[in-house]
Amino acid sequence: MASADVIVVGGGNAALCAALAAREQGARVLVLERASEAEAGGNSRFTAGAMRVVYDGVDDLRVLMPDLSDEEVARTDFGSYTREQFLDDMARVTQYRCDPDLTDVLVSQSYATLSWMRGNGVRFAPIYGRQAFKVGGRFKFWGGLTVEAVGGGPGLVDALTAAARKRGIEIWYSARAVALSAGDDGVRGVQVRRQGKTVQVDAGAVVLAAGGFQANPEWRARYLGPGWELAKVRGTRFNTGDVIAQALAIGAAPVGNWSGCHAVGWERNAPEFGDLAVGDAFQKHSYPFGIMLNAEGRRFVDEGADFRNYTYAKYGRVILAQPGQFAWQVFDGKVRHLLRDEYRIRQVTKRSAQTLEELVRQLDDVDADAALREIHAFNAAVKADVPFNPNVKDGRCTTGLAVNKSHWANALDTPPFEAYAVTCGITFTFGGLRIDPQAQVISTDGEPIPGLYAAGELVGGIFYFNYPGGTGLTNGAVFGRIAGANAASAAMAARAGDQRPAH
Ligand SMILES: Cc1cc2nc3c(=O)[nH]c(=O)nc-3n(C[C@H](O)[C@H](O)[C@H](O)COP(=O)(O)OP(=O)(O)OC[C@H]3O[C@@H](n4cnc5c(N)ncnc54)[C@H](O)[C@@H]3O)c2cc1C
Repeated sequence: MASADVIVVGGGNAALCAALAAREQGARVLVLERASEAEAGGNSRFTAGAMRVVYDGVDDLRVLMPDLSDEEVARTDFGSYTREQFLDDMARVTQYRCDPDLTDVLVSQSYATLSWMRGNGVRFAPIYGRQAFKVGGRFKFWGGLTVEAVGGGPGLVDALTAAARKRGIEIWYSARAVALSAGDDGVRGVQVRRQGKTVQVDAGAVVLAAGGFQANPEWRARYLGPGWELAKVRGTRFNTGDVIAQALAIGAAPVGNWSGCHAVGWERNAPEFGDLAVGDAFQKHSYPFGIMLNAEGRRFVDEGADFRNYTYAKYGRVILAQPGQFAWQVFDGKVRHLLRDEYRIRQVTKRSAQTLEELVRQLDDVDADAALREIHAFNAAVKADVPFNPNVKDGRCTTGLAVNKSHWANALDTPPFEAYAVTCGITFTFGGLRIDPQAQVISTDGEPIPGLYAAGELVGGIFYFNYPGGTGLTNGAVFGRIAGANAASAAMAARAGDQRPAH
């Protein structure tokens, strides 16, 4: 029978950080990844690798990014992102629901955790292009998001996997956890389905990092509500909530925003699940510089309510609620240079025209006359005396419309006009397992379940309603590292015949 000190269930960022941290404590670690090696890495692999992190200025960033050149520093205003700003962002976007203790750990450990990842071979770079616009010859970062893993999500997962292999961590691919083995003294192993056989693997402690339930249409309809089964899944098809169910079955407590999720505007004709060849490029995140129209030709949301980072994760839900579950994003020639790279991929549903009249006739499934009236009304409502500035919330708004735009409002008056069709793409679910700040899974009786730890997407209580961009990977890394280290000390104590330590 196979055994390990620590079993980590999952093969994404949270799992691999947990495995590395457990190994660092001297534990024998086994990683169980449900996907084959070709599809391994979970949602983490689909990301751009953007990670939200506290930093006081460029000196802190130089530690994370030793490759930063003097020339880059000279032409960039990196600003800073303080602990208070990160805490404020979390509180504001979650409508003050985020668990204060977990959020404090997330924020205060963010920099130390990225430095630790760097020490484990993950390389970081500034997110030029997505998070900084050039003004007066200098790049200026905005929205608190400055750092990404080199090579994006694939680069991140490859670097963590290489580190795990180098340190002697065993990884089983195509190995699906099907049940947790638990008794009165807590969790003692995992039943694994591998190569058509179910085997028992014993362990001193188990870390769960197997993602949310977004790839399960039945659970989506059940927990997120009617219509959610129609959303596209942006990432991996393997995060179906089965490990959440396994933990609930042995008495773990559910917590958080079970009817909530991260969901964005996503290419209308994208496949049912993510496509690793396209990655996150089906997303369409430049709507703050244009308008969105629904099937009735109406605008339905304030496209410029805030920086993209603070609205994109909740606007997928708004698009799903429109007739036919789609919208068209419309831009004019003045802002084309601001459109992100994802607008220039081949797999895009795009229309372009030299006049607005021509454009609206090309928008599939839209009331063209109503759309034209809506655009004219929008154009007339723009407060044109306020200067446009994409780096700040510029206050260039519309007035007098049923749905006003708060910032970056420009009349659509300069050809060529372009439109892109989007639907709702779900990223991950917010509800999950209750953990404490030591990443111990808490039971429905309110006590830690001995030997059971969790991190990443399958943890609840951190995100509600919305999400500040780049926090998912940081969240998985911070709590993965804590979960792995604590699981290792619990397992080593169990191996030595001691009582499991209380953290
Ligand atoms: C397109 C896209 C872009 C994104 N961009 C960003 C970004 O730039 N920055 C950011 O911070 N976040 C981003 N996110 C969110 C981010 O991906 C997640 O928050 C984060 O990756 C979650 O990490 P995780 O390790 O918890 O889960 P995952 O990385 O999804 O890993 C879960 C793992 O569990 C495995 N698994 C599932 N069930 C089982 C089972 N029964 N047995 C064994 N293994 C199992 C899966 O195969 C998978 O390997 C993005 C997400 C998507 C989809």
